[in-house]
Parts: sequence; C-alpha cells; structure tokens
Amino acid sequence: MEPSTKRNIILLAVLVATVGIASWRFLAGGAADLAPDDQFIGFHCPACDHHFTLSHREFERRFNSRECHAKPGGGILVKCPKCENFTAERADSPSD
Ligand SMILES: [Zn+2]
Repeated sequence: MEPSTKRNIILLAVLVATVGIASWRFLAGGAADLAPDDQFIGFHCPACDHHFTLSHREFERRFNSRECHAKPGGGILVKCPKCENFTAERADSPSD
C-alpha cells in the first residue's frame, strides 16, 4: 500500500469519526427536547414595573406556542403575569 493512500485512509477514518460524534451529539441533544426546568430567565415589564422569572422550559413552551412577540428591532416580548400585556423584556438582574 502506498504511504499516501494509507494516510488518506487514516484521514478518512478521522473524518468519519468526527462527523459521527458530531451527529450523535446533535441527535442526542435533539432527543432531550425539554429545556431545563431548574434554570430561570429574568424578565421585567416596564408597563407595570414587575419583575418575574420564567424557567427555560416555560420560556421554550411559550416561544413554541407563539405566546411571545418579536420586539421591533430585535428581542422577544413575553406576556407579563401582572398586567397581562406583551411588554415584558429579558432582564437578567432584577433590581428588587
Ligand atoms: Zn406588566
């Protein structure tokens, strides 16, 4: 066997292994389709000055069921549990 052929086979094997691991990770991540329920995202509603949190799972559920509005210029607006307007924005550090 030519040395260059042997090297190509090794490179091909490495490539197959890398792609295989990458797709396995992708499939494994896709199978775990629920976002964590013990990690929270902070939100603030400027309309009524209310801070609240949603778990990643709850946020994903709302996002998937379109209970979120796209904010003009970027970002996501979610429904405020207090005043029930779609005005709450992400706020990672609640001030209260
Ligand atoms: Zn509000």
